[in-house]
Amino acid sequence: MSSQPNSPSAEERKAALKNAIQRQVDPIFSTMESIVEGYAELESKYNTLCKAFDQATNGAIGLGDGRFYVEAGSISAESAPELHAELMRRHPEEGVPPVDFSAVATTDNSPYDRENPNGAKGPDGQYERYVVLTEEERAKGFVRPVRRAYIHDACGVVTTMGLSLCETYARSPKFYTSTFCSSCQDHFPVSQFKWDEDGEVVGS
Ligand SMILES: [Zn+2]
Repeated sequence: MSSQPNSPSAEERKAALKNAIQRQVDPIFSTMESIVEGYAELESKYNTLCKAFDQATNGAIGLGDGRFYVEAGSISAESAPELHAELMRRHPEEGVPPVDFSAVATTDNSPYDRENPNGAKGPDGQYERYVVLTEEERAKGFVRPVRRAYIHDACGVVTTMGLSLCETYARSPKFYTSTFCSSCQDHFPVSQFKWDEDGEVVGS
């Protein structure tokens, strides 16, 4: 067998193809690397910002699921004076004393632990305990009816709660940002639930 003098051999064609592929792949890998590096940089900036935010608010406001939430038990006139004053100012319901967010207890009567407020998650998806306002604080007055059960929009199933949780919702409707569905066995933003009794959106 003979070949044309200038036609490339199989080996040469293979090498040329390999080079061509390499030229396509190299920029993709370098783009991927710069994305990963950029992400790490953003993450470290985010962590720095979170720390600064925590310091600025004396840990009274947290950042969960990208949303602000108030850390139960951490707002008092001493620990976060400006935020405390603002909460007092904003409380619109007449005749009902403003909520003292430092007056918190737990559903299993264990002491409130800011580092680990809910304990471990059980096999049914519920936490060991939930933070509630103390009985004394709840007795100061409700701004909503005490409702006992809510329906999850996604599954249509009713979940019933213990009285201390229901009364905490009635005293301070925005106390919780997420809540448990007994059917989905997980926690979801309160806006995805409606009260069984009157159809109002939970947390409103
Ligand atoms: Zn559900």
